[in-house]
Amino acid sequence: MPAKTTTPRAELHAHLGSSVDPAILWDIAHRQGIRLPSKNYWNFEDMITMSGNERNRNLDELHNNYFYWTELIQSSPEAILESIKSVFGGGYRKCNIVLQELRFNPMFRNRGGERDLDHIIMAGIWGLDQATLEYPMVKGGLILMVERTQPLNLGKIIFTKAIKYKNRGIIGVDIAGPQRKSFSMKKYVSLFQEAKKAGLGITIHTGEEGSLAEMRYVVAKIKPHRIGHGVMCVKDLALMRELVKNDITLETCPTSNLRNSIAKNVGELKNIYKTLLKNKVKFTINTDGPEMYRTNIHKEQEFLKKSGILTAGQIAQCTKWAFEASFIK
Ligand SMILES: [Zn+2]
Repeated sequence: MPAKTTTPRAELHAHLGSSVDPAILWDIAHRQGIRLPSKNYWNFEDMITMSGNERNRNLDELHNNYFYWTELIQSSPEAILESIKSVFGGGYRKCNIVLQELRFNPMFRNRGGERDLDHIIMAGIWGLDQATLEYPMVKGGLILMVERTQPLNLGKIIFTKAIKYKNRGIIGVDIAGPQRKSFSMKKYVSLFQEAKKAGLGITIHTGEEGSLAEMRYVVAKIKPHRIGHGVMCVKDLALMRELVKNDITLETCPTSNLRNSIAKNVGELKNIYKTLLKNKVKFTINTDGPEMYRTNIHKEQEFLKKSGILTAGQIAQCTKWAFEASFIK
């Protein structure tokens, strides 16, 4: 599919750990002498991607089963440079993605502090720079993420680094990962305010699983520019009204929602989109990580059309919203 024959697309929600071609990760793992549990490439590909009826029961399973290996392989400056570069080039070649935001947690790439965090982040930025030299029509940016499983002091360091590298390619901050009792969104309010003041884009994974209380809190107290997933809002009319009022755009990821048991089936997914449309909530279509879910933006759009969830016109509207809500200026 030559890119020039398709409409320009945008991807706002993809994680580095789920976005790199398994063949590239296999190559990097061998070059770095990483001992893998699978000696055969096909077993390795199967280990880090989802196919057939594979489903995670929750986000904990996703992180323990899939992200562990990809993050380990990406944990060096060389690996992160090559990984990031490959995502921007691949997205353009495969789907004509001309606006791509990619997110990663730099502390899950520095072997528990063994590698220097600034080197990891800068290597990521060089990867992005090299990709845009090869593909000048692509606009790209990186979002630094904090995981709920991390203690607050580490989260603070990531926010500080995001502000430090703001003019070098870091465009936003995010919180993601499975729910933890030790995690408090309240403690991040001032950090998000600071990041917003510094000119960074704010997006937060919430309303994906767990209770809706966190999403209500995020909308009321942090007012992010965008929300990762957020599809649980369809259960709360007042919350949807707040999303519209505050012009918050959702980053939806349909296949990921099915694979991670966020939506039970296509019927439930259909209801989610119907409710969002009815209540005029702005949303975008994303992959959450094309390689892990064996999908891409083109396939996601085709799936939504073929399942009767969205029309071609509604998909074009989502693309327009994605370009408008991007943190890349
Ligand atoms: Zn995500």
